[in-house]
This record gives sequence, structure tokens and C-alpha cells, in this order.
Amino acid sequence: MNLKPTIIIIEDEKNICDFIRTTLTAHGYKAITASSGQEGFSFITSYLPDLILLDLGLPDIDGIEIIKNVREWSLIPIIVISARSQEEEKVLALDSGCDDYITKPFGISELLARIRTALRRHHASKALSGPQPIYTCDDLTIDLAKRLVTLKGQEVHLTQIEYKLVSLLAQNSGRVLTYDYIIHTIWGPYADNNNNQILRVNMAHIRRKLENNPAEPHYIFTEIGVGYRMKESQS
Ligand code: CA
Repeated sequence: MNLKPTIIIIEDEKNICDFIRTTLTAHGYKAITASSGQEGFSFITSYLPDLILLDLGLPDIDGIEIIKNVREWSLIPIIVISARSQEEEKVLALDSGCDDYITKPFGISELLARIRTALRRHHASKALSGPQPIYTCDDLTIDLAKRLVTLKGQEVHLTQIEYKLVSLLAQNSGRVLTYDYIIHTIWGPYADNNNNQILRVNMAHIRRKLENNPAEPHYIFTEIGVGYRMKESQS
């Protein structure tokens, strides 16, 4: 019986594909490669992998279509592999339901860390119904049940909106939330462009309250052009 997590790599650039397959195999994963969207899609449905690594620029199908299609029937974690110039595509991919993205060129340790995070999150969400009640990371603790934020044991006073933002990011720690997703979750379906500005202002206030150096954040990172990512909870 093979208990290795199975990962399908859908990527048409042969050298990248080979590099990832070799790396994953060396780290205890079963790696299956597909060089086109059609092939990838048929492997997904036949192997039902534990995770999918997906290049967006494929020769036959747009990677976004694969994400949308898979999300109609499965929550298999999908990590998009994208080129640096494709910010709009990253946003679209995240909003279409991918879990994370990694930008080319990337290092092995980053790739492996993203894979571990996605697999862990997926298992945690299957094991628990509802959000983790407590977020902890270094000096920061957020007790979601008590709505209590503490930094080095001292209570941090946040406004209502600041708290909503922080708790949303904490409940999704380790993954990128797009600006659109955050705005629509916090301000509802009728949010408009003004909310972008309000989001930025609130995030600046939050950083002043939580970060030692708001210019070099330790807890909440900006993914430029895409959204925000909160450092993964250690609890
Ligand atoms: Ca490609």
C-alpha cells in the first residue's frame, strides 16, 4: 500500500517539470507529471491526488479553467506556479479557488514549505468543522472565541473593522487572501473602490498596533498587487 502523498504537476516546461518531480520524489512524495491541461485533467480525475501543482500558461487549456472545474467537485489543494509578471492572473487564480501560488523562479525549500502548508491546512479543515479557536505566532495570540488579541501578553485594542480584518486573516493564516475577497467578506457584496482605500488605511493602523516595524512586517505580509497573507499559526 502506498501512503505517500500524491502530487500531480501540470506544467508544459519540461525542465521545470523534471526539476519539481525529482525534488518531490526525493522528499517522499509520489509525483505524477502532465504536460498539457487535458492530460492533467484526466490524471486528476483518475488518481485523485492529494495536491495539484498547476502552471497557468498551458498549451491547450487555461489553468484557470482547470481550477474552476476541479472546484466544482473537489477541495484538493491547488498551488499555482506562475510567472512574476502575472499579478492579475494570480488574483484570478486565487479568486477561482486555488489555495496558494508560487512565483517562478522559486527555491526548493519554498516550494516544499508551501506544499506542507497546503496539505496541513487541507487535513485540518477536514478534521475540524469551523475555524481554529486560537491563533498563535511568536508574540501574537488571537483568541477568536473571546475576540481577544494579545501581543507579548498585553491586550491590543483594535477597532471593530480592524478586528474583523485580523481575525479573517488569522483564520486563513498561511494563505493569501486577495484584496477583493477581503473587501467583499468584510464590507459585503456592495463594496466599492473606496473600500480599497479604507482597507489600506485599516491595515496601516493594524500594523502600527501589531508590528515592531510596520515597514517590515513580521505577522501580516503584503503580496503586492494580490492581497495579504498572515504568517501561519503555530498552534
Ligand atoms: Ca507554461
